[in-house]
Amino acid sequence: MRQLGILGGMSWESTASYYRLLNQGVRERLGGLHSAPLLLHSVDFAEIAACQQRGDWQAAGKQLASAAQGLQRAGATALLLATNTMHKVAPAIEAAVEIPLLHIGDAVGQALQRQGVTRAALLGTRFTMQEDFYRQRLAERFGIEVLVPAPAQMTEIDRVIFAELCQGRFLDSARAFYLECLQQLREQGAEAAILGCTEIGLLLEGLEAPLPLLDSTELHVAMGLEWMLGS
Ligand code: GLU
Repeated sequence: MRQLGILGGMSWESTASYYRLLNQGVRERLGGLHSAPLLLHSVDFAEIAACQQRGDWQAAGKQLASAAQGLQRAGATALLLATNTMHKVAPAIEAAVEIPLLHIGDAVGQALQRQGVTRAALLGTRFTMQEDFYRQRLAERFGIEVLVPAPAQMTEIDRVIFAELCQGRFLDSARAFYLECLQQLREQGAEAAILGCTEIGLLLEGLEAPLPLLDSTELHVAMGLEWMLGS
């Protein structure tokens, strides 16, 4: 197996999912005592979130690029950046290392294409929903038209991510609100919904949703497994 480096801690709630799912995936494919050869650099998310708030993406990019170099030196053959939002600084990370960054947007785009979806709802942080770095990649590389919730709903979705999900609080009020947003996006023509924040799957786990859900965490992990197992 090829060793994979994870840039995590954004938040650690979802990095724990990556760790569990990667190991489960290896066990399913190889059985016995096999487990995933991983290197993890887990950051203090408060520092990264403060950069986001200040709009200082350069500082965040620098910190993650230096962490990526450390993972490369330690023997990682590829990287998973375990957050959708911080893919805003993917170019800075990619420029700092020789190993590939397995992009979460490509994992999602490929899954949408496989399922024949061309109009997809997107839930994530306000950065992911509003800015170009994520939506444009889906549009340009995969031909996906992305629908996002109304501005007031985006504000609340974003608040829930930072004030609740990233702090390990998974509340019924948030579940109901997210499902209501998905219902409206379905009425606007969305064929499926991208859970474009790595903690949302933890909130909606096991629920009946109005749309087929594509969980960015699960799809990103599948991409990582493919790399590790070299199929
Ligand atoms: N984990 C989240 C994401 O996938 C949000 C945390 C962050 O801002 O990195 O976007």
